[in-house]
Amino acid sequence: MTAIPEYSRAAVLRKFKEPLKIENVPIPKNVETSAALVKIEACSICGTDVHLWQGSLSLTVNLPVIIGHEMVGSILKLGYGADRDSVGNPLRVGDRVIYTHTACGSCFFCTTARKPTLCMNRRAYMYENMEQEPYLLGGFSEYGYILPQAGRLKVPDNVSNELASLSSCALRSVMNAMSQLGEIDPTETVVIQGAGPLGLLATANAKVRGARKVIVIGAPQARLDLAREFGADLCISVENTTAEERLELVKSHTSGRGADIVLEFTGVPAAFVEGLHLARRGARYLIVGQLGEGKTEFQPSLIVKKNITVIGSFSGDARSYSLALDFISRHVVDFPFEKMITGRYKLDEVNVALERMKNMQEIKPVILV
Ligand SMILES: [Zn+2]
Ligand SMILES: [Zn+2]
Repeated sequence: MTAIPEYSRAAVLRKFKEPLKIENVPIPKNVETSAALVKIEACSICGTDVHLWQGSLSLTVNLPVIIGHEMVGSILKLGYGADRDSVGNPLRVGDRVIYTHTACGSCFFCTTARKPTLCMNRRAYMYENMEQEPYLLGGFSEYGYILPQAGRLKVPDNVSNELASLSSCALRSVMNAMSQLGEIDPTETVVIQGAGPLGLLATANAKVRGARKVIVIGAPQARLDLAREFGADLCISVENTTAEERLELVKSHTSGRGADIVLEFTGVPAAFVEGLHLARRGARYLIVGQLGEGKTEFQPSLIVKKNITVIGSFSGDARSYSLALDFISRHVVDFPFEKMITGRYKLDEVNVALERMKNMQEIKPVILV
């Protein structure tokens, strides 16, 4: 085995909005019980990375941090007792894994509420100060550290590093959201707000789950064209329609009623208001994209009078990661997942990739470390 070096090159954010700097960050010598050290193979870029970089997330960030949270790594060193993944697969040096933010397993939210993503003692990658051990808690780095209480899932052989990366955030968030939504009846029409990675993956998932029709609302046109390939029956561009026109279109495809299910993946506060209008009476409305600090004005009586079930869904637990890998592995030939990977960059090009992501020039760029 090759010796593990003392330092890892990693993209560090010291001040919001400023370019990331590639720095030498110590590699922890000691791998704790249940923890693991990985060589990062790939880390895809997410809207959340851009929001964190810009300082616009409504979550605490302890600068300086290593950005990146959608990583796949191959195992270099396993701590004591870390020889199995979260669903029982044996783990050995060299195996590829994706890994979750942590949940303690012993707080109210982990146990009584059964919502580990809401854990009171949650530790999340790319939010923790990189000057403290174990330093390597971000994905744009040569090496990474899997925290003892992080879930970890072995990546199936037929899933590429790029697709494993996108399973670790975009798709696991979709799987968690779909689990919270419950079943989709074959009579139901699903409206998906947003044609970014989550919207596209949700389109594929809603079709597999048996939705009668899936309507995707978003932009730009290239993403809507891709939504078609992921199974959308109708795509509506927000660039050349008004909210009223979109409502009329959705109604015309749902016998005048509106959507049975609306899924929000835009992150744009105003989309929430539009979604309430697109939803039929008695609909389910799942909100996933809203993570920023933006506000919007809406009429709460719409929820009451239409008897809408509004469901928020945040992140995803080990189960969602496992479902995500399983979904990609099973449907890798059914949907053009690879087309979502719009750019491949080296670690040194991370600022270019983030800038392009910010300007909507990418769907899912990947840093190949
Ligand atoms: Zn992400
Ligand atoms: Zn907990």
